[in-house]
Amino acid sequence: MSDPFTGGCACGAVRYSIVGEPLVMADCQCRHCQHLSGTGHGSYLTFKDAAVTLSGEARRWEVVGDLGTVKAHAFCPTCGAPVYLAFPAMPDLFTVHAASLDAPERYAPSMTLFTARGHAWDPVAPGQRTFAGMPTG
Ligand SMILES: [Zn+2]
Ligand SMILES: [Zn+2]
Repeated sequence: MSDPFTGGCACGAVRYSIVGEPLVMADCQCRHCQHLSGTGHGSYLTFKDAAVTLSGEARRWEVVGDLGTVKAHAFCPTCGAPVYLAFPAMPDLFTVHAASLDAPERYAPSMTLFTARGHAWDPVAPGQRTFAGMPTG
């Protein structure tokens, strides 16, 4: 097994360590991810059944996604950086923002979602599978 995926917020108060392999690594260009990231897309690693260790006090806020999934976004109350997402209805899944990784070069996205919402100033990375919205099935 590879080294744990470690990372945290911009000021270092909120930290995580994940033992496991990412199930999916994907960029998302939906408006929600644009607002959240402050730029053209969000970049996410999603783990399933991973061993997650958290430290520091993150604040959470919840949003309901297009498919009705409740997403709990965790961010650092000190620096405001988004760090991870949890899914109350799917506790086996855990998602982190790619740039929060200590080694962000480990992020290797295979797909870009919601390209219909993408902007000319935020082109899709080469070699991606693209979906105009959320992939289904
Ligand atoms: Zn912080
Ligand atoms: Zn999105």
